[in-house]
Amino acid sequence: MNSKQLYAQLSQLFAKEQLFCDDLSRLTKGTDAGLYRLIPKAVVKVNREDEVVRLLQFSQREKVPVTFKAAGTSLSGQTISDSILMEVGSGFEYSAITDDGRTATFGCGLTGTAANRLLMRHRRKLGPKPASINAAKIGGIIANNASGSSYGIRHNSYNTVKSMRIIFADGSLLDTADSESCRSFIASHPQLISDVRQLHLEATGNEVTREKIERKFRLKNTCGYGVNSLIDFSDPISIIQHLMTGSEGTLGFVSQATFETVHDAPLKATAMVYFAGLRDVCDTIIPLRGCHVSAAELMDRNALRAVEELEGMPPELITLPEGAAALLIDTAADDEETLLQQMREIEDKLSHIRTLTPIRFTTDRYLYNRYWNVRNGLFTSAAAARPPHTACIIEDIAFRGEILGDALTDVRELLVQTGYENAVMWGHLLDGNVHFTIFPEINNPAGVQKYAAFMHQLCDLVALKHDGSLKAEHGTGRNMAPFVEKEWGSDVYDLMKRIKKAFDPDNILNPGVVINNDSDVFIQHLKQIPEVNPLIDKCIECGFCEVSCPSKNLTLTPRQRIVAYRHLAERAAAGNNKRVSIQEQLKNISYPMEETCATDGLCSINCPVGIDTGKLVKELRWQHNGKIANRIADSIADNMYGITALLRGLLNLPHSMGRMIGYDTMENVTKGLYRLGDGLIPLWTRYTPSGSRKINRNIFPADSSDAPMAVYFPSCITRSMGGPSFGYREKDDLPSTMLSVLRKAGYTVIIPEEKDRLCCGMAFSSKGFREQAGKKEKELNEALLKASRNGALPILCDMSPCLLHMRETLDPRLKLFDQVEFIHDFLLERLQFTRRPVSVTIHTTCSSTKMQLEEKFLTVASRCAEKVVVPENVTCCGWAGDRGFFYPELNNSALAPLRQGIRDASEGYSNSRTCEIGLSINSGIVYKSLIYLVDRATT
Ligand SMILES: Cc1cc2nc3c(=O)[nH]c(=O)nc-3n(C[C@H](O)[C@H](O)[C@H](O)COP(=O)(O)OP(=O)(O)OC[C@H]3O[C@@H](n4cnc5c(N)ncnc54)[C@H](O)[C@@H]3O)c2cc1C
Ligand code: SF4
Ligand code: SF4
Repeated sequence: MNSKQLYAQLSQLFAKEQLFCDDLSRLTKGTDAGLYRLIPKAVVKVNREDEVVRLLQFSQREKVPVTFKAAGTSLSGQTISDSILMEVGSGFEYSAITDDGRTATFGCGLTGTAANRLLMRHRRKLGPKPASINAAKIGGIIANNASGSSYGIRHNSYNTVKSMRIIFADGSLLDTADSESCRSFIASHPQLISDVRQLHLEATGNEVTREKIERKFRLKNTCGYGVNSLIDFSDPISIIQHLMTGSEGTLGFVSQATFETVHDAPLKATAMVYFAGLRDVCDTIIPLRGCHVSAAELMDRNALRAVEELEGMPPELITLPEGAAALLIDTAADDEETLLQQMREIEDKLSHIRTLTPIRFTTDRYLYNRYWNVRNGLFTSAAAARPPHTACIIEDIAFRGEILGDALTDVRELLVQTGYENAVMWGHLLDGNVHFTIFPEINNPAGVQKYAAFMHQLCDLVALKHDGSLKAEHGTGRNMAPFVEKEWGSDVYDLMKRIKKAFDPDNILNPGVVINNDSDVFIQHLKQIPEVNPLIDKCIECGFCEVSCPSKNLTLTPRQRIVAYRHLAERAAAGNNKRVSIQEQLKNISYPMEETCATDGLCSINCPVGIDTGKLVKELRWQHNGKIANRIADSIADNMYGITALLRGLLNLPHSMGRMIGYDTMENVTKGLYRLGDGLIPLWTRYTPSGSRKINRNIFPADSSDAPMAVYFPSCITRSMGGPSFGYREKDDLPSTMLSVLRKAGYTVIIPEEKDRLCCGMAFSSKGFREQAGKKEKELNEALLKASRNGALPILCDMSPCLLHMRETLDPRLKLFDQVEFIHDFLLERLQFTRRPVSVTIHTTCSSTKMQLEEKFLTVASRCAEKVVVPENVTCCGWAGDRGFFYPELNNSALAPLRQGIRDASEGYSNSRTCEIGLSINSGIVYKSLIYLVDRATT
């Protein structure tokens, strides 16, 4: 069945919005973090169990395979398909916390971090802790049996998931927490139950097999199926449930799981210990296993070298000798006395081991973060520094603690012999689990052969020589499928093949993953890594950026934009004129690719290699802008005074009309005009601000002659559209309120001369008008230097996106503050706060998030109101300057979780006047600038 035929059939079963069969969606949604590319024939987004059932029954009937996709952060090629890809939608993002957080049920679509945020207030957390937890979803975490720096085996999904709801290949559903469901499943699936019983009998009945499984699962192991289920349990339902863990979507779909959570001790201490070599580090493993250690992260010299020159790193890193290694030891407790005991215990138990520096724990938050930044930054730095057009592969092996030193020495030798000597190595010591990165050239046959030869030798070394795990946490996928038998031997491999056959006799669930007869599958369908644009060339397609992107549910995510761009560039390179061809091709996809990107750059925060996809989009806009558009932009930049004055007048009109004919009628009219305008007329709603009053003075002196002084730069937005909108009880506009609060706090306020023609340039820059942006930045820079006496006085701006842009572009001597930061740093002590008896919600804009203002925002709001609600799962609002006026669907999509998230809050506050429009539209309450709340709560 080809893509069109499949679409025709699927559209009988699913709504149009759930189906994706166009080339762009199939390519971009079909991507995971691994090194393989398959393009699905169709993508189906599911939000409910009955939809999964419907799709699986269709697949079974038509014999069309299905692959499930959660966040697509898998590394071993297990989340790709050339058939149907089933994407888990937001309908599976639910949760229920029970027993004071000791148990928790999560839908398979919730991210690990979202789950942990819910558990945090109970001092609990999920057991599994992969480094990808911000993006990875519950279904993917379970199906890969993912784990991380916390002691992996004890707290992985296998050991902490108590029950599951599973949908099998035939569409039947089993709830392992429900005895009636278990009874009826046993009755309706006699063959599967009998097969599972038989497999259990064979695994436990054969001493050699049993001993092998027990031995190998003392280590972390995600190579092949979790056959420990066959010997750890005898009841078929428990075996089935545990086999699902680590089954990579090949045995069934886990729609929800109930976890036994883990205590999250609040007090933490860490020690960074340096050793002469890896062998010395490995000597600590046995003593450390007897101590209270929450993490023990090993790093080799290459790993330390990858970060040693970065800002903020411990200075001693650079002085370490060749071959040195480090161990980051973490311990956590509920009270200080216990924490101290634990630190002493670790120091005592390691006292006989040679270290380069004494073992010293710290509880100082700054030092704690500094040491963890070494660990957290090493992969990022190594991946970002890799040569262009190379792949980034993270290997994931484990050895018994007793032989870890020998094994790692062998691995290092192999890396040198095979030409991957720059590999960066780190790992979770207590589990004997080590990762290393290699950067092979997989764009050409020689590079592929070199990688293949390395893999064969690595597998011999790990599985045969040292009896280790070939994949400890990342899953088997297509990458390790040809080597499963090498690791397990034919007896256990045969059990695994029979497990697959018993669960999925028609091989419709993610075929080719885990079990695969093709010995070359690990070097087939390799992704090409083209060199297309320095802004994105380092991308490893990991998908970490997707979760915070405002357009993720509307059009494309940052990863998808990059995948699309790479694809177009590759196609163009196949022709003659690369640049024109890409431009031509981009025209066809400008809406998803470019028009609906908010260019807020939130994607860069979670990106391990620091890519801001918004910058690529701005570049595309710059390339698109023709002569006429540039002339219009020139004229706006040169006539800021006139434009702001015009807007001030215009914006009052619709509010006067709304008051006369009713806001509902007025909105009907403006919505009609917006539709007729076809992208040329902005959408007006009742929450669009009215005009501001003109500011006529430049100096507002305080009463006292020794009053502190500050410069206030009202942005062009607030100078024009800073007035109240529908639902405001206040009559004053934002700049007047700001001035009033500053003066209440005893400040003399200076407003830059010629403010009426000033603008930070961000509005031009985000649309790709680079020259016009540069001009406005230069003017503002001069004006602020003058007003602030060359940076001596603090400068406050009332729009957080503008302030961030100013920080990025203006003279570093200028001390620039957003309103939240200024209030927090300068006004909290100068004003008398009385908490208002009200529940308010705050929205941290994407620029504030980038400036790390969340805590300060919460502190200020908490001084003003009795209750402050911070909604879950709301990131960038997607208003994006003025984009919300023309693409309101971006704003609506980004803020879909807002209404539920604000709970009982009756007032909303933020620090960007334009974002507040969209927040009000999508929440049902009025959002305004934080300064209004401060004004009300202070004397
Ligand atoms: C930079 C980087 C670092 C990483 N670090 C770690 C780490 O420290 N530890 C670790 O263990 N892993 C790590 N990973 C690998 C990966 O992120 C994890 O395994 C993660 O748990 C996968 O989750 P996901 O939501 O992305 O799943 P996906 O990739 O979407 O899916 C994973 C597998 O599960 C299947 N699946 C998805 N949903 C379901 C469901 N509901 N029911 C049944 N099957 C399903 C899919 O078909 C696929 O086979 C890392 C990846 C990257 C890119
Ligand atoms: S800039 Fe914003 S909208 Fe654009 S890709 Fe990045 S996160 Fe998404
Ligand atoms: S942009 Fe960064 S976070 Fe996003 S897929 Fe690429 S490397 Fe990963």
